[in-house]
Amino acid sequence: VDDSDFEPALGRDLGELLGAERVYAGERAAKFDPGVDPDNLAAALVVMPANTAELARLLSYCNSNRLAVVPQGGRTGLCGGARSKPGDIIVMLDRFDAIEDFDAESGVAVVGAGVRLEALDEQLREQGWTVGVDFGARGSATIGGMVSTNAGGNEAFRSGVMRHRVLGLEAVMANGSLFSDLGRVTKNNDGYDIKQLLIGSEGTLGVVTRVALRLEAVAPAPIAALCACADARAAIGLFQRLLRDPRVRLMSAEGMWRDYAEVTAEALGLRPLVDFASGNPYLLVEIAQPGANADADLFEELLAEAAGQGEIDEALIAKNEGERRNFWRLREDWAVDRLYPHGLWYDVSVPHASLDDYVAGIQQKLALIDREFRVFIFGHLGDGNLHLSVAHGRPHDDTIRAAVDVAVFEGLKQMGGAISAEHGIGLEKRDALPKYLCPTKYALMQSVKRLFDPNNILNPGKSVRV
Ligand SMILES: Cc1cc2nc3c(=O)[nH]c(=O)nc-3n(C[C@H](O)[C@H](O)[C@H](O)COP(=O)(O)OP(=O)(O)OC[C@H]3O[C@@H](n4cnc5c(N)ncnc54)[C@H](O)[C@@H]3O)c2cc1C
Repeated sequence: VDDSDFEPALGRDLGELLGAERVYAGERAAKFDPGVDPDNLAAALVVMPANTAELARLLSYCNSNRLAVVPQGGRTGLCGGARSKPGDIIVMLDRFDAIEDFDAESGVAVVGAGVRLEALDEQLREQGWTVGVDFGARGSATIGGMVSTNAGGNEAFRSGVMRHRVLGLEAVMANGSLFSDLGRVTKNNDGYDIKQLLIGSEGTLGVVTRVALRLEAVAPAPIAALCACADARAAIGLFQRLLRDPRVRLMSAEGMWRDYAEVTAEALGLRPLVDFASGNPYLLVEIAQPGANADADLFEELLAEAAGQGEIDEALIAKNEGERRNFWRLREDWAVDRLYPHGLWYDVSVPHASLDDYVAGIQQKLALIDREFRVFIFGHLGDGNLHLSVAHGRPHDDTIRAAVDVAVFEGLKQMGGAISAEHGIGLEKRDALPKYLCPTKYALMQSVKRLFDPNNILNPGKSVRV
């Protein structure tokens, strides 16, 4: 333990509890990658338990001494859920990195919370399976973090979100007790489904240690097209057409509104991909075909039918893997954040039928707040999940931020949407949550938090205020 610049006594106590090699303080702690948020490592005190017994001992100690614990996986979370402050103890799950069991017959894997999504997916694919949840941060995000944020991603419209992939779960609770519900079956009505409360609780109710996952069979190689649509209604028409056609399997349906697509394409030198008169939004679609590589002729036929119905104005079909990759670079690159820094980021869910009205409404409202605002919109259109960056490249004060919050959030619940689609609440959305949620639901959330963590040691101040 290098405790040169942090609470030497605490570092020593933790070292005595778990062994000095499990504790990282001062300079040793600073060597970790903070991930997407520099404040993730602000506590400068990290404990890396090697198994559930050590984690249980640690949490029991923290509970008795009222010490705040911040669980961390890959530190790719986008709403401040993994942020720490001096005085907190960061618990990294890196050592829970074993793929403990993989039943290729039934498509079930039991894995440690620290296993990275991409690493797991690569191993599963060798035997014809995949996790069924995928997104840009795949290289770093962990299964424990994904469970705790109830991650969504590109495949949610067909495979659901993490909540739908988890068959069983093990976690250590605030007082150090072990919650073990590592079932491997779809049907399980053995009482209240407590694990569903832990999923999406962002480390505030328990620390996830092991997960049993229902896997998806790998589909044959897909073929991709980038389609310029006149509006979201047209894009949803195309989406439904491809989803319902029995000859193909729709694999992806990602949306990019014109401002986002043009700025990103320009930055990546891919301008010709989005040089169309419409494209508000563009829809990146991928199809696979059962038992065969996707047939470009059939895809062309389907897209021509869609064009005949006014669902597409123009479309590009990727001729090779390089072109397909470029479509995805357009969707997954963060050029708008580099070119327009200090953007206010949102992650909302909007029912398909309300997408056009919602987008037009926020554009109008934001122009009234500041005429220079650019609104970059993209996301998982297949399930109505929009990511927005509201930016003009300069920092915003709190009054502007509050006004933009209202412009983006107001009306969403009434139309059947959500103010947080897949990233969670963390610190970023914590204060907005009680304003937009049903008061009874918020009060129940507070009661659950108090029940699971009476001393408020687990990621205190995140998600729900108690
Ligand atoms: C480029 C990029 C693209 C992204 N795209 C998507 C996307 O499409 N869909 C999506 O859903 N998200 C997306 N994200 C957000 C992020 O990757 C997910 O939220 C992911 O699930 C976080 O996993 P993590 O291991 O990095 O968790 P962390 O960031 O380390 O932690 C996230 C939260 O979970 C808690 N936590 C972590 N591990 C545990 C554990 N074992 N037990 C209890 N609590 C824990 C933390 O305290 C924190 O509150 C993206 C992020 C980036 C950077």
